[in-house]
Amino acid sequence: MNEQTLSSSAQIRTPRIGSGWDSHEFKPGIPLRIGGVLIPHNAGLAGHSDGDVLLHALTDALLGAIAAGDIGTFFPPTDPKGKGADSAVFVREALKQIEEAGYVVGNVDSTSILAAPKIGPHATAIQQSVAELLDVDPSQVGIKAKTPEGMGTDNTAIAHVAVLLTEISWP
Ligand SMILES: [Zn+2]
Repeated sequence: MNEQTLSSSAQIRTPRIGSGWDSHEFKPGIPLRIGGVLIPHNAGLAGHSDGDVLLHALTDALLGAIAAGDIGTFFPPTDPKGKGADSAVFVREALKQIEEAGYVVGNVDSTSILAAPKIGPHATAIQQSVAELLDVDPSQVGIKAKTPEGMGTDNTAIAHVAVLLTEISWP
């Protein structure tokens, strides 16, 4: 990545957008975590980490916005450290990368697609959780959910995330 001088007042940089997508299969009897929130359900999302589909898509969106690769670039699936990992670790690494590149999160929008459970009753908790993780106001985090409507993906949770990064403004 080009070394750019953040202190140069003459330098105007454009905002950056990023998008992320992830999916995980439901597996009975494991905890369900979406956006860092534990949601009561008879199945959770299977994966190398805690399977938090929303935080994985968020991580990819953040890294994508600065063209820094994706979650696998920083946490290869072969790395035993990732096993059962709290996915907040992935988001924190992505945040560190965007801050080093001179950006902060402007806003985030997300759509989760799953047949069950209903996300509506948990949307505020998820919004708070993601905002806290990103150190932004909840009003900067959009949480939306849909059901798959006959797509044949009822045993899967999918998440799409878009982010806008803005430049760090120095005091
Ligand atoms: Zn994932």
